Amino acid sequence: MRLVLMGAPGAGKGTQGEVLARRLGVPRLSTGDMIREAVSSGSDLGRRIAGYYEAGDLVPDDVVLGLFGEAFSDPASQAGFVLDGFPRTPAQAEGLDGLLQSVGLELDIVVTIDAPDDELVRRLSGRRVCSEKECGAVTHLNMLPPGSGRCPACGRDSLSQRSDDGEEIVRNRLLVYREQTRPVWDYFLRAGARTASIDGIGSPEEVGRRLADALGVAA
Ligand code: ADP
Ligand code: ZN
Repeated sequence: MRLVLMGAPGAGKGTQGEVLARRLGVPRLSTGDMIREAVSSGSDLGRRIAGYYEAGDLVPDDVVLGLFGEAFSDPASQAGFVLDGFPRTPAQAEGLDGLLQSVGLELDIVVTIDAPDDELVRRLSGRRVCSEKECGAVTHLNMLPPGSGRCPACGRDSLSQRSDDGEEIVRNRLLVYREQTRPVWDYFLRAGARTASIDGIGSPEEVGRRLADALGVAA
């Protein structure tokens, strides 16, 4: 299955995308992960884009298309893929179309996960990530004992806040989503893509069941 997962920051794309990709046996391609990797590597490219990332602004389309093109050319994505956080602008959507056309493939479906802004802000401001490279677990303050920095997955004292999860930056990311990424949904509608919207409120398992239903796959 070739699927695009859309939704505002905090809607649950990463969580759902990971479960779904595992279930379908296809890679999850996350431009956010690719960008974080580039930034933390300190490479020339990483230094060039760090400012955009830290401010919650979009990284320029040419950079994102380059990173995505590399991942897309990996033979692992021949069997299908779950796209998480890409495309995020109409120009990126056109770039994706071009890549797909060049290999004679089409998307199966575009799914958006909906959640209201106050819920998104609550999730993102309480989100904590494990900085251990082999772990990388994502959790929320309200799942942890007060004051604990201990990762529930690996047990180490390695939880921290993602640098773009500060309140002001979150607000900018939501604005950027509305202004630059929502038009991608309209782009797909105009292009006649198969689309589905699901409600992102509820436990990850509940949302996962809605997603599986929308796709017609076993939950
Ligand atoms: P979220 O969906 O919660 O915002 P991501 O990890 O997908 O989190 O993205 C984090 C940041 O990475 C974005 O705010 C942006 O700076 C950058 N980014 C990710 N994907 C793209 C993209 N397709 N185009 C431009 N910038 C991107
Ligand atoms: Zn951990």
